[in-house]
Amino acid sequence: MPAPNLVTRSAHGLHALAANIHLDARSAPGTVFVSHAHSDHCSSAPRIICTRETAALHARRKREREVVTLDFHRPYACGDATIELQPAGHTLGSAMVKVSSAEGTLVYTGDYKLRDNPFSPPALIPRCDVLVMECTFGSPPYRFPPDEELLARLFAFIDETLSMGRTPVVLAYSFGKGQEALFYLTRRGYDVLVKEPTAGYCDAHVELGYGFPGPGTWERFAPELLPGRVVLATPGWKRDPAAEIPRARTVQLTGWGCNPRARYMYGYCDLVLPLSDHADFDDLVRTAVESGASKIYTVHGSPVFAAHLRSMGLDAEHLAAHPGKPGVARKESRSVTTATKAVAQYALEL
Ligand SMILES: [Zn+2]
Repeated sequence: MPAPNLVTRSAHGLHALAANIHLDARSAPGTVFVSHAHSDHCSSAPRIICTRETAALHARRKREREVVTLDFHRPYACGDATIELQPAGHTLGSAMVKVSSAEGTLVYTGDYKLRDNPFSPPALIPRCDVLVMECTFGSPPYRFPPDEELLARLFAFIDETLSMGRTPVVLAYSFGKGQEALFYLTRRGYDVLVKEPTAGYCDAHVELGYGFPGPGTWERFAPELLPGRVVLATPGWKRDPAAEIPRARTVQLTGWGCNPRARYMYGYCDLVLPLSDHADFDDLVRTAVESGASKIYTVHGSPVFAAHLRSMGLDAEHLAAHPGKPGVARKESRSVTTATKAVAQYALEL
């Protein structure tokens, strides 16, 4: 049976037809579902639908607008459909959206991961007729070791650095990864100095009721507090950490650490660990298979992943480099140069 036509591309990006909402569109005349508050998913639309947490974080980046906030698993009538948000496990407030109508069930994942996130309920693989899924790490090199192993390596690096009388500097994106890192660091007992803009997002988490565990503490970075502390900063600060922190040793947390070129891309770091807030290749494949979807569209990544799904016998098609941007899908093959540019783009913010 052919897959129902539940989603299309308008001039503004992906459009869920029955609900008449756009999905993570940067701008659109009507209503946009905002999956989470990373800057490339925020919207200038007059009306947005999202979780309470995403609404608060979205307001830090964009001026106020009409907002419909929904709890997870609470059905909401929208157009000719019922929509429901489900945890996406990517950041605080991140959500997938399920659109159910007489024509069938559509799920849009947004950015997601199936592994634990201390700031999200567990993300489960959605069942649906049509699946629109991100595929940031949709190629075989991006198989991440277990988080427990990665955290053990992170803590060993920090302990070794402190025992050398040097300062460990953990590099992670300011919203999402930064707070996950701070959660694990303070829980382990480290006292952490947090640079801006990460500290501002840590405050936002606390204001929304999501604190950081002890016994370790955290406060804003000040050079005089350095001895014996761990520093948490963004990759953008990496270029000259020695300017403020003598004898720093840096570790970056990014899924791109699995890239075969990682040691060249992150040559400025002493260590790169693929601790990610996205699904890895195996979890992406598992999502596609276990969703039961008769049609799969991929976004926010390489066309290589859709081709892989087709080789497994699934009906998959790559739609866009980003769900919020109108345009045509990229060609199936890309040059190394183009792929490297894409990596550089995503290294800025995920
Ligand atoms: Zn994201």
